[in-house]
Amino acid sequence: MTGSASSSIRQVKLEMESELRIEVGHDSALRLRLLNGSAEIFGSELAPGIWLSFPSRLKFAVFTWYGATIEMDGSTETDYTADETPMVSYVNVHAVLDGRRSRAKASSSTDSDASQGPRVMVVGPTDSGKSTLSRMLLSWAAKQGWKPTFVDLDIGQGSITIPGSIAATPIELPIDPVEGVPLEIPLVYFYGHTTPSNNVDLYKALVNELAQVLENQFARNAESQAAGTVINTMGWIEGTGYELLLHAIDTFKANVVLVLGQEKLFSMLRSVAKNKPNVDVVKLQKSGGVVSRNAKVRQKARSYRIREYFYGLTNDLSPHSNIANFSDLFVYRIGGGPQAPRSALPIGADPVANPLRVTPVNIDSNLLHTVLAVSYAKEPDQILSSNVAGFIYITEIDIQRKVITYLAPSAGELPSKYLIVGTITWLET
Ligand code: ADP
Repeated sequence: MTGSASSSIRQVKLEMESELRIEVGHDSALRLRLLNGSAEIFGSELAPGIWLSFPSRLKFAVFTWYGATIEMDGSTETDYTADETPMVSYVNVHAVLDGRRSRAKASSSTDSDASQGPRVMVVGPTDSGKSTLSRMLLSWAAKQGWKPTFVDLDIGQGSITIPGSIAATPIELPIDPVEGVPLEIPLVYFYGHTTPSNNVDLYKALVNELAQVLENQFARNAESQAAGTVINTMGWIEGTGYELLLHAIDTFKANVVLVLGQEKLFSMLRSVAKNKPNVDVVKLQKSGGVVSRNAKVRQKARSYRIREYFYGLTNDLSPHSNIANFSDLFVYRIGGGPQAPRSALPIGADPVANPLRVTPVNIDSNLLHTVLAVSYAKEPDQILSSNVAGFIYITEIDIQRKVITYLAPSAGELPSKYLIVGTITWLET
C-alpha cells in the first residue's frame, strides 16, 4: 500500500463462492471497491476499481463466484466473510426461470399460456431474505436482457415506495447496490396501514386492482409477459396472513412459489398446490447473512423509508414545502371510521362499517404529521380503484387561518386534489 493516511482502508480477499457480509456503522458511511476478480451485491455486478459509497446502517453482502479482492474505507458495525451461502441454489432457480422465459419468448404470442414467462412468488417469515432473493432474481434476469416486473406486496418493509403501499415496476437494469429499486414510474396503490389486519378487504381489493392492471399490460406487451414477474410478499404467514398469501398466489396466477426458511409453510403450500398442477412450490434455504430486525428496528426502517422518499438516500433530493387552503384539498379515508349506532340507521341496515367505503375526512389537527397519498382519481368514487401519483407529508395545520403546510417531492400543483389518509405517520428527525 502507498502511504495512505487513513488507517481505516483495508483489503479483504474472498475465495470463490464466498461473501463479505457488512453492516455499515451507525453514524458513518462506508466506501468500497472491487480491486480484482469479480463480485456482485445481491445480483448486481461491481464495476472494477470504482468506489461505491454506502450510507450508515445498510446491511449487505459482496459475493464472488470466482474470487475477488475488495477494498474498504470507513467503519462498519460488523464485517466478516462467510463461505457457506445458499447462492448456488438461488442461481440454479434463476437458471430454471431463465429457461422458462426463453421458451415463453419462442412460443407464438397467440397462445397466451405458452407465452407467459415465470410468475415467481417469494414467501417466508419476516427476515428470511425475501426482498434480497427477489432482488437477486430480478438483477440476474435484467443482466441477461430481460425486463421482468417486480411486484412488492409487503406493506411493512416494501422496497419500491413508502410503507403502507403495494407497488409494481419494470426492472430494466440490474438493481443498483446502493440506490435500490428505481423509483421512476412505479404503479402504486395506497393501503394506508403497515399491517393487513387493519383492513383485510381493502388489502385484497388493492391486490386485485394491481394484478388486473398488470394483466392488461402483459396482454399488450409480449416482451414483459415472457420476462414474467417476481413478487415479494409480507412476512405475515399465520392465520389471515396465510390466507392473504393464497389469495395473492391465485390473483397473480403465480406458477413458481419459493419458500424461504420455513418447513411448515412449505408443506402447507405444497399440499395446496397438489390441486394446482401449474404451480411449483420450491423450498430454499435462508442465508445465514440475513439480519434479523426486531419490531423497533423495523419501525425505524419504515421511518427511514419515508425520509428517503422525500429527501433521497443521501439527502440528494430537495422536497418543497407548499401551502394550501383547507378548501383546496379533499381528504378521504377508506373503510374504518366511526360506526353508526344501530339506532341511527334505517331499519334493516347493517351496522357494520363497510371496509371499502370511501368517506370524506375533515381537515383538522389530527392530520398533523400524517403521510397522505395523492390519488389519480378524477372523482371520489374512483379513489378505491385508482393508483396514486405520490405522497405528501403534513407539517403544519393552521386551524384559524384554515391553511395547511405540506412537504411534497416537488413544487407546483399536486396532480390531483384527492388525497387518501390511513394510519401512516412520520416524525421528521
Ligand atoms: P425479508 O424481506 O425476508 O424481511 P430481507 O431480504 O429484507 O428479509 O433481509 C433482511 C436484512 O438482511 C436486509 O437488511 C438485507 O439487506 C440483509 N441481508 C440479506 N442477506 C444478507 C447477506 N447475505 N449478508 C448480509 N446481509 C444480508
